[in-house]
Amino acid sequence: MRAAVYQGGQRFSIDELPTPSPEPGQVLIKVNMCAICGTDVHAFLYDIAPPGTVLGHEYCGVIVEVGSEITRWKVGDRVIGGGGEPPAGSEPAVRAEPRFNYRTMGFPEGSIRGYAEYIAMDEWQPLAVPDGVPDEAAAMCEPSAVAVHAVRKSRVRVGDSVGVIGAGPIGLLVAQVARAAGASKVMISEPTPGRKAAAMSIGCDAVFDPTEQDVEREMVAMTNGLGPDVVFDCAGIKGTLDQAFNIVRRAGEVVLVAVPWEEMPVRAVDWMARETEFKASWGSLPSEWPVALNMMAKGQLSMASLILEQSYVPLEGIQAAFEALVKPSSQVQMVVRL
Ligand SMILES: [Zn+2]
Repeated sequence: MRAAVYQGGQRFSIDELPTPSPEPGQVLIKVNMCAICGTDVHAFLYDIAPPGTVLGHEYCGVIVEVGSEITRWKVGDRVIGGGGEPPAGSEPAVRAEPRFNYRTMGFPEGSIRGYAEYIAMDEWQPLAVPDGVPDEAAAMCEPSAVAVHAVRKSRVRVGDSVGVIGAGPIGLLVAQVARAAGASKVMISEPTPGRKAAAMSIGCDAVFDPTEQDVEREMVAMTNGLGPDVVFDCAGIKGTLDQAFNIVRRAGEVVLVAVPWEEMPVRAVDWMARETEFKASWGSLPSEWPVALNMMAKGQLSMASLILEQSYVPLEGIQAAFEALVKPSSQVQMVVRL
């Protein structure tokens, strides 16, 4: 099978690897498409994925072979590669390891994931894709579950105002989930034209460009001088966390959803006396993946503004796609089609 193998030094090669065959209790999935996640781009940019790794964890495919002892799945079932509830003892390190550090432990050696044509998985791992949810939306289940987790961890309530910093895929998904959770006003800050357009088309009440507007002043003005009840930092770049603290209302809540790899200076005196609360939201729980799929099936979560005709690249285009994604780009989401 063909796979994009990370070689280190910001290089992928397209290699021929042995096609896995499912062991007893496993299924073999033919990957149809795999969305490129920001964490993969970080792994590339900071060169932290071990050489030999096949990245990609946002994928949709079809079961093409089942090992012995499989009753849950049959050939032809449409699935996403994750979201199943792990049996006791199989929890990922992020949940099981009390001192989990994403920077040093997040990219284990030897893993073969979605930038490959085939993946063998234990039968508990995949989830069935509901009828009516297209492949490209299903492939976005993992980042959608990240958004579901962030909003469920937050204190967003019906009628709240919400600020979102960054209209990348996670920001656009958090904005949609916050709306579905009852937020009456959703405002977003984003500098790049394609992402601003996506934020408009998912129905944000206001989209502010931080290169042209004072986002803090605009969001405070949109909330009668108070500031939004909850602000999600979905950018995680220098200055955005401090900006979130400055924007949020008195005794409001800031939720960090992005994974910031650089130091983020904060000047606490500007906001600490407003008794701001802070929360980090990491990844998602298996129980939140079906929530995301259900929201897609019900039309509460749309990928139409995130994934456009020009979003797709073939496996051979992965090197160029990653090189484009490390720069500020107008592309919202890129998807590898296998
Ligand atoms: Zn992801």
